[in-house]
Amino acid sequence: MNNPGLIYRGRFAPSPTGPLHFGSLVAALGSFLDARHHQGRWLVRIEDLDTPRTTREAAADILGTLEAYGLHWDEEIIYQSRRTAAYQAAFEQLQSRQHLYPCACSRKEIADSALQRGSELIYPGTCRNGLPTGKTARARRVRANDAPINFNDRLQGNITQDLAGEVGDFVVLRADGLFAYQLAVVVDDAAQEITDVVRGADLLYSTPRQIYLQRLLGFATPAYMHLPIAVNAQGEKLSKQTLARPVGKNNAATTLFDALVFLRQQPPAELRFSDVGQILDWAVAHWQPNTLLNCQQRVIE
Ligand code: GLU
Repeated sequence: MNNPGLIYRGRFAPSPTGPLHFGSLVAALGSFLDARHHQGRWLVRIEDLDTPRTTREAAADILGTLEAYGLHWDEEIIYQSRRTAAYQAAFEQLQSRQHLYPCACSRKEIADSALQRGSELIYPGTCRNGLPTGKTARARRVRANDAPINFNDRLQGNITQDLAGEVGDFVVLRADGLFAYQLAVVVDDAAQEITDVVRGADLLYSTPRQIYLQRLLGFATPAYMHLPIAVNAQGEKLSKQTLARPVGKNNAATTLFDALVFLRQQPPAELRFSDVGQILDWAVAHWQPNTLLNCQQRVIE
């Protein structure tokens, strides 16, 4: 934690686009163990902001699965779909301080003119100094600046990103009128007073954008720990797109054991035949995330 005087508050924030699969179970388990090991609180937030992609059934299914795995949360669940007013207030704060500008570019126009870095496109700044004549605003972007953002990830070490050069001005209000994940996650982590974000390393390079927004909005920055993501033998992240199998509710104890092995926790072999409560008790007491230092992905069959 950045501030040792605070009570630890962690969270798991799934997007309900489908049932929980092994990769998301690992993120849920890692954040749960870290919170409980620090005698902290563990919250669940349903990130159902992207209404075209998320469903109520998937949210209910994820929550049922967490319960079957003994991952019991504290406090009331937050649903992002009900928090538009909070995102709007943050948006207006950014807007009134001239951090935002309207952008008329379509996805295709950006793809045609942007520099590419890895799988991310760097926005070339076409609308930064005003909309081209005859164009109407679609999205709102926040101006990135040249000062590098630096943070110390508990597992991945020192991360520095030059937002302007590596990401570019990024979207906070999408062309379809929905607030972007980067803004919502920052508003919600602050509202829930999260001290420690533990999540998959696929979000490692989103973190500087989130820290940047926290600074613009005057929010505290939590400590971050990015866990390795589960990939298949082709190096693809396990997700709905790669047809990852959902984790069943019936074989929770053995799957939980496998998730601990994935997190390099070396549970004793006989624990495999215990119930979820006993497995979690062992795992909370013995939680050693440092076995995962510098590890961003692990292959599972
Ligand atoms: N909802 C995001 C996801 O499922 C995670 C957000 C986060 O943990 O910050 O990928």
